[in-house]
Amino acid sequence: MPKLALQDLDVRGRRVLVRVDFNVPLNAEGGITDDSRIRAALPTLDYLLERGARVILCSHLGRPKGKPDPALSLRPVAQWLSDLILRPVSFVDDCLGEKVEKTVSILQNGDCLLLENLRFYLQEEANDPEFARRLAAYADFFVNDAFGAAHRAHASTEGVTRFVQQSAAGFLMQKELKFLGEELANPQRPFVAILGGAKVSDKIKVIESLLAKADTLLIGGAMSYTFLKSQGVAVGASLVEEDRLDITRRTFESAAARGKKICLPRDHVVARRVETDRLDKKGRKIVEFQDAQNTSSDSIEDGFCGVDIGPQTVRAYQELIRPSKTVFWNGPMGIFENKNFAGGTFEIARAVAESGARSIIGGGDSVKAIHASGLDGRITFLSTGGGASLEFLEGKTLPGVAALTDK
Ligand code: AMP
Repeated sequence: MPKLALQDLDVRGRRVLVRVDFNVPLNAEGGITDDSRIRAALPTLDYLLERGARVILCSHLGRPKGKPDPALSLRPVAQWLSDLILRPVSFVDDCLGEKVEKTVSILQNGDCLLLENLRFYLQEEANDPEFARRLAAYADFFVNDAFGAAHRAHASTEGVTRFVQQSAAGFLMQKELKFLGEELANPQRPFVAILGGAKVSDKIKVIESLLAKADTLLIGGAMSYTFLKSQGVAVGASLVEEDRLDITRRTFESAAARGKKICLPRDHVVARRVETDRLDKKGRKIVEFQDAQNTSSDSIEDGFCGVDIGPQTVRAYQELIRPSKTVFWNGPMGIFENKNFAGGTFEIARAVAESGARSIIGGGDSVKAIHASGLDGRITFLSTGGGASLEFLEGKTLPGVAALTDK
């Protein structure tokens, strides 16, 4: 890696500011429902504490919009972390100011402090230089281990690097860059990439980038209807991005010209979408699905929309995944939040896990699906970054990585 790594720093007795991604999901009572992101930071944390560094952790949690919100305090995370590492973790209810300064000044070698949610200040997301300078003033070194936030140039990911002696990548950051970068650029073949999810527009650049590396691309989820429609197939009332039909058609054709295969669903689970008068928590009308059935071909009747890939598609995709040596997957194959339409996603998860290929799951909903199916242990790498993974795969520079000290 051309950037400094945590192992390049001599951290004993030094104050190290570590940007972590503790943006954990919370339930209505404020309880942590999934601690994967906290656990993902443990290798970096254990390394620093074992070597006698004085560790200052900082993170964002949710979207507090620049003002303190008790529901988005990181305090419960400090306790959770302390239980995981079996050491006390101090907590200060601010990320700047006198209280923080005082606590930092009495930190001993091997002590760990967690600061309050960075996004209680608007200056964090605005990448305000003064805010960044004040954060940096607590530390000799900066370590960025928040891959999930690396695609944003915020004060704690980018600005802060201008005010410390050296900035290095933590172990999670290194691992993410290795798997999503080097491993996919030099894959063992055959390399099968699977892409699903809601929108072609979100992923067209990722599709282009994966087409350059993978041998076969399997498409599922709502984005397959834009692809199918661009090929003249009837898709009924399925979700289609009309303004992306041209680019989708060109992508499909250019792949074929390069000898790459883009596979589209050959059958579907379809249903009639009915908007009810009931509202969900966010005030949106609750949608129900009726008359769910399988189609016998790739085309969909008027009035029905595609909600999952069908059984023939599952079998065809499984046949392609089985002999692969590398698999990358991002995005569900259907509306998997509804258990009636989760079958395609879970079958694909199982095929990926059973293939024995080096398997890399690109964050977001596909990681949720892998967790829900209990197959996590059989996956080579589960990325912790949703948006960051996709931007990195598109070939974009991640500001949080670019800002680290060059080797
Ligand atoms: P993304 O964030 O792009 O990976 O999209 C994930 C979302 O796509 C999930 O909330 C799924 O419910 C949704 N999705 C997947 N397949 C479909 C479909 N056939 N119709 C509507 N939404 C879908």
